[in-house]
Amino acid sequence: MAGAFPDSSDYVVVGAGLAGAATAWQLAARGHQVTLLERDVPAAHDGSSHGSARIFRYAYPDQFYTRAVLEAKELWDGLALEAGAELITPFGAVDYGPTRQPALLAGVLAGAGIEHELLTAEEARQRWPQIAFDTEVLWHPGAGVIDAETSVNAMVALAVRHGATVLTGWSLDRVERLGSGAGSGYRLHSAAGETLDAGNLVISAGGWLPRLLESLPLPSGFLAGLPEFTVRQEQAFHFRYREGSSFSATNWPTFIHKAADMQTYGLPGGRDAGFAGQKVAEYNGGPRVPSAADQTGLVDPANRARVVDYVRRYLPGLDPEPYAETTCLFTNTPTEDFLIDRADNLTIVSPCSGHGAKFAPLIGQWAADLATGAAAVPDRFRSASSPALTT
Ligand SMILES: Cc1cc2nc3c(=O)[nH]c(=O)nc-3n(C[C@H](O)[C@H](O)[C@H](O)COP(=O)(O)OP(=O)(O)OC[C@H]3O[C@@H](n4cnc5c(N)ncnc54)[C@H](O)[C@@H]3O)c2cc1C
Repeated sequence: MAGAFPDSSDYVVVGAGLAGAATAWQLAARGHQVTLLERDVPAAHDGSSHGSARIFRYAYPDQFYTRAVLEAKELWDGLALEAGAELITPFGAVDYGPTRQPALLAGVLAGAGIEHELLTAEEARQRWPQIAFDTEVLWHPGAGVIDAETSVNAMVALAVRHGATVLTGWSLDRVERLGSGAGSGYRLHSAAGETLDAGNLVISAGGWLPRLLESLPLPSGFLAGLPEFTVRQEQAFHFRYREGSSFSATNWPTFIHKAADMQTYGLPGGRDAGFAGQKVAEYNGGPRVPSAADQTGLVDPANRARVVDYVRRYLPGLDPEPYAETTCLFTNTPTEDFLIDRADNLTIVSPCSGHGAKFAPLIGQWAADLATGAAAVPDRFRSASSPALTT
């Protein structure tokens, strides 16, 4: 995967998860000289972009995000075509529960012209007897499941096709500013003692960001304006379709259920667990860790018990004994907005809060626009200290 080792690059992107892979692809496709650095391998198993299953959906209470999904989908379609791979498998989605506000979501989808239906709980139970719906239900058939890891690899491959260099096993340790003028660049030092000079630097380090921030030459005002990042070690569990039932991946939609005491989501687990069941998780149910480096990769038994109990109560189509489980990192901001901002020639991209996968190619476009100065990004993605821009 690695090309000839360069000693400098106009743009260096750090981190090859969904965000970094998308940014490197977008920059390289525009003709820039790009090096993508990754401490492990693309879609690192201990990051946020590994595995085969993330929900792709249009339903958001805030129409800003619904419209962004529409924009992202055009880029996903182009990416799938260029990569020659199916990256999003259509399954449709159901949203329900006392605090999910299906009617409000339906209004947002109607405003954006997205096909949907609002069903009573009884109508939904007849259509999907495997789910014990407790409120009215929003159904939208355009939703599906993103194969995150295949998407990362596709974007990295396209970046390379456009001339980018990828260095794996290159762990950024610290960054030195070269000069003080607006056009000055950076010298990057790896944990193993290598160096690489960058004209422009994009940091898309997922859950490693909070600690890495300490070693970046960022103005103190910019740092002070950043939102607080909270890293959580999420846990997801795979449950088999009930034996003897007609349930299979082909007739299970993805779901988001906001009950009063717990928010859960589920989706066909795909390749991650042998296509044999649904992946179910409690949203933000995992323990907090200071930074990705502090994760244990161990599943919390209390969270497993909560999710098993949930499956027993609400998902009669599944065998409530998990047959596989995994952990993954959420990097949350208080508003659940992403952070895409720049100080001097250093751009920070942190698109997680558990919902960034569906925007990946658009995040790459936003980050490339900001890093090159080609266009602004929406103000809500910028830190409190950055001047507001109109987008
Ligand atoms: C369990 C789970 C479920 C999710 N479900 C959904 C969903 O249903 N729908 C949705 O839209 N989104 C979902 N998301 C969110 C989505 O997956 C994330 O927004 C996205 O993967 C974040 O990608 P990233 O590139 O920011 O981070 P990462 O994928 O973690 O990438 C960061 C990369 O940086 C590398 N790195 C870190 N430090 C360094 C360094 N010093 N030097 C070099 N490399 C470094 C890491 O090794 C890693 O590969 C989910 C996330 C999780 C964890």
